[in-house]
Amino acid sequence: MIYLDYNATTPLCEAARDAMLPYLNRHFGNPSSVHAAGREARAAVDDARDRLAALLHAKPGEIIFNSGATESCNLAVLGLARSRSADGSPAVASANGGHIISNKAEHHAVLHAVEHLENHEGFEVTWLDVSETGMVDLDQLANSIRPDTKLVSIMTANNETGVIQPIREISRICRERGVLLHSDMVQAFGKINVDVSLVDAASFAAHKFYGPKGSGFLFLRSGLPIQPIMFGGTHENQRRPGTENVAGLAGMAAAAEWVSRDAAEESQREAQLRDDFWTHIAKLFPEAQQNGAPAHRLGNTLNTSFMGVDSETMLMALDLEGVCASSGSACMVGSVRASHVLLAMGLPMESARSAIRFSLGRQTTAEEIANAADALARIAKRTKDAREYAVA
Ligand code: PLP
Repeated sequence: MIYLDYNATTPLCEAARDAMLPYLNRHFGNPSSVHAAGREARAAVDDARDRLAALLHAKPGEIIFNSGATESCNLAVLGLARSRSADGSPAVASANGGHIISNKAEHHAVLHAVEHLENHEGFEVTWLDVSETGMVDLDQLANSIRPDTKLVSIMTANNETGVIQPIREISRICRERGVLLHSDMVQAFGKINVDVSLVDAASFAAHKFYGPKGSGFLFLRSGLPIQPIMFGGTHENQRRPGTENVAGLAGMAAAAEWVSRDAAEESQREAQLRDDFWTHIAKLFPEAQQNGAPAHRLGNTLNTSFMGVDSETMLMALDLEGVCASSGSACMVGSVRASHVLLAMGLPMESARSAIRFSLGRQTTAEEIANAADALARIAKRTKDAREYAVA
């Protein structure tokens, strides 16, 4: 199997597995219990929080543990939009309604949370356009901010195209206007430098950086009030109730440290392999095109439209060849929707419907890329033969 779908999820790294095992075996206590077993578990949770905070140059209290990216994005969007006023931002008196700015190419974890506020809670939303290369328009952002704008949510790196947004400039605009900024940093962490001091809130998920599934966190700048989106105990400083996933958090902290050690070098290595792969694709499929700004893209991501071959057919052909990739499109029962990200970039339907995302990772080798290219060569030949047969 050649796994080229690291943006979907990553394998667990050894450091994470080793860090988790004691809490899956012997140290099974509940961190809220006051006895020795509970205290052991509490120490692991505190340790994971301290280490993640240190990596991000944040304070431990700014880390809210939760189940992963979707919950983290939901908590940020719903919790900040619903909170009454924000430290350092103009107080918006009403808890109900207000204005939110987001972008049309966000992951559904943000997109659908914002849509919920728009459709059910009286918020007005400005959906920023993205250019044909996937970049948000900074002038449109600046011009969209209103006195009642409660939140801007713009992702750092896009999961489908790898396009990296100019978060520093976005931050400057939001700070100048006193508006809260949340960024989905789920795909960025471990691949590029992320700077949480530029934002008020940021979302992370362990399974995107070689940690376990079911663990994530929200960075929330200290002093900012947030409305919880779940109700129960007083965990996470009353911001996210529920018994902590102790092993998951220990694994997440270990993975975060592991992935951060040599992220820049690794990203360059992956970018080289990715570009080699594209060279093969361009030769085999002369009409193929890359989607997303080449100069502002994660090193591991290649989104390509194989014009004339629809995504699902290509994915199945790749799967039969043992290559795991993904399409940007969401499968509904019996139908395929083209990617909202690619459509937001203004791609014609044919390009969007023939798009495949290849995403590389730590275990991707030059040999795998060569083998994946061979698989594509066989697919290209079969496609050509089928077309000629159809014409004849
Ligand atoms: N945000 C981004 C950018 C993602 O890539 C993903 C997952 O693909 C999510 C949010 C949601 O992640 P999860 O399904 O792990 O909650």
